[in-house]
Amino acid sequence: MWDYSFILPDFIILFTFLVYYFSHPRLPIKLNRTFLFILIVNILTIVFDVSASWTLEHSGHFSPFFLRVINAVFFIFFIARIFCFFLFTEDVLDLRSRHWGLAPALKHIVFILSELIAISNFFFDTIFSISEDCVYSRGAFYNVIYICAFYYILYGLLLCLFKLKKISRARFLAVLTFNFVLALGYVFRILFPNFLIMNLFSLVAIIIIFVTFENPIFYLSIKAKAFNKSALSAILKELGSKKNPLIIAFMIHNYNELREVYSAAQMDRGIELISQFLAKKYPKLLRFYLRDGKFALVGDDNFCSDKIRDEISTRFSQSWCAGSDVDIYLEVKFVQFDSKLDFGNYEKISNALVSALRESENFEAVNIMVNEETIKEIERNTQIKRAVEHAVENNSVEMFLQPLIDAKSYKLVGAEALARIRDENGNLIPPGLFIPIAEKNGRINSMGEQMFESACKFIHEHDIEKMGISWINVNLSPIQFLRPDLNKRFSQILEKYEVDSDKIHLEITEESMIDYALLQKQIQTMRLSGFQFVLDDYGSGYSNLSRLKRCPFINIKLDMEIVRDYFKEQDKILPTLVQTFKQMNFTVTAEGVETLEMVETMRGIGCDFLQGYYFSKPLPSHEFAKTYGMY
Ligand code: C2E
Ligand code: MG
Ligand code: MG
Repeated sequence: MWDYSFILPDFIILFTFLVYYFSHPRLPIKLNRTFLFILIVNILTIVFDVSASWTLEHSGHFSPFFLRVINAVFFIFFIARIFCFFLFTEDVLDLRSRHWGLAPALKHIVFILSELIAISNFFFDTIFSISEDCVYSRGAFYNVIYICAFYYILYGLLLCLFKLKKISRARFLAVLTFNFVLALGYVFRILFPNFLIMNLFSLVAIIIIFVTFENPIFYLSIKAKAFNKSALSAILKELGSKKNPLIIAFMIHNYNELREVYSAAQMDRGIELISQFLAKKYPKLLRFYLRDGKFALVGDDNFCSDKIRDEISTRFSQSWCAGSDVDIYLEVKFVQFDSKLDFGNYEKISNALVSALRESENFEAVNIMVNEETIKEIERNTQIKRAVEHAVENNSVEMFLQPLIDAKSYKLVGAEALARIRDENGNLIPPGLFIPIAEKNGRINSMGEQMFESACKFIHEHDIEKMGISWINVNLSPIQFLRPDLNKRFSQILEKYEVDSDKIHLEITEESMIDYALLQKQIQTMRLSGFQFVLDDYGSGYSNLSRLKRCPFINIKLDMEIVRDYFKEQDKILPTLVQTFKQMNFTVTAEGVETLEMVETMRGIGCDFLQGYYFSKPLPSHEFAKTYGMY
């Protein structure tokens, strides 16, 4: 009566999935638990589908009650299966409530009622009936199984549409597809009830889920035989329900440099040994390897965090034997979490962990304790990153201008363009905070170009000579300065605004001099297009007079700190330096002059130009034009 040709391969494939799934480490998260339910309920549905069909075909050997029970159990699993898929949809969309209550109960009411009807079939003829002579026929409530199925498929699809913007396209498509496949399966079952074909469709749905979400490999770091970074963010997302979880991370100090010293193969072996040590020592904790020598351990109780840190630290005081004759010595830095922290906000904790690990190289301390204060700082950084993105995308980097004064005549001769961006509340963020971030994420190129363009636009739109200024200084970050296409890009902007290149002076810092050969080449190319260069912040870092001699700067700006130091202790160093520069044919600017005394002294030791709050703070460009346009 029934065709079993689909169901046996279905069973074998599902069983293979189950074995594969159990033979890999699995992350204890909702999504994985629900997938496991799907696999188990599917296998049981198939088992009871075959048993119910086969026993009905051989009904002569069984009592009517036995047939009733086995068919009822089949329907119980049949209904549970679609509900498991629905729960999975909810988990992917992160919509499942953690608590029991009226709302979740209402959501589940169709499932509960359908199951009650299926269970009542043990005693009454609801979904099906079995007559005294063991003949099976559909009952008055048979269609409940389809109502329940289509209800949850439609519900899942609606939820998916509702969350459309919050999930990735790949996830959205996967949820849509597996629900669609299931719907198709139920339609086929209605049309061809004898083929036991529904199981094939739910197998296809399982395969879609597996390849999109559930392959355990997605969550594993093969190198370290531990969970990976995606696994860590998945687990952190679910830690909110635990009051005071244990999260401890550590990173190998100077990992990338050590990879060169010891070779990649030895370091990889070292990573494996560390992971093995952690697995053996802390079998109950989840172990993560986050690449580049960063490990994390997650567990239930933050209480033992210090003990674990000390134990790991002690182990690292010995070597890791990475080959028959190679001993690797490694140092580590730890990141721990203050137990007073609110662990409810997964994103906050996750960001804090990632940032603390990334920044740990810059911290002096061996142990970083993440507390509310660290988190606030990290949030501020995230806010600045967002402001940088916003300013780049909306072309909204603002140009402030600060006067450059001729030290002899005290007249305005030029201006320095200084970048400003705003946070979400419209407050200005100083460049000292956002430039390093923009340099790290590459946005500095676009920001620098916006500033260059603003300066050209300003020159194009104003009669700058009437203001008394002959040029505008624009700052160039080392990253931006070393771009091979800089000359072309800047020349095009000059052309667009019909500005002569001698109206712009480009300020670079000593950092740009690290690759001296490249610097020479870039300066020479750009000078051919008419650009002039100024050395900014002289004395703040690496300086080499003999190199400087061969650089065609037109001006050297003394860093504010050396100007200040001179006022603390007036020795001969600064006047001699200024004279040396002048003999080398550089003009000199003193930055950060705030008082009349500073102005007169800097002028006295031979500085040609002065810049500082004594004359004016940097002004928004329109205010600058208003103030100086009158002269
Ligand atoms: P900088 O190029 O050395 O600019 C001079 C800095 O000194 C400015 O800070 C200015 O406001 C400040 N300053 C001027 N006179 C005084 C004074 O009398 N007292 C004090 N305390 N400060 C004074 P700002 O605008 O915060 O800029 C800081 C740094 O950010 C700049 O130093 C520059 O290195 C960088 N920066 C600013 N705009 C840009 C840009 O468009 N591109 C790049 N790459 N860097 C920029
Ligand atoms: Mg500057
Ligand atoms: Mg400077």
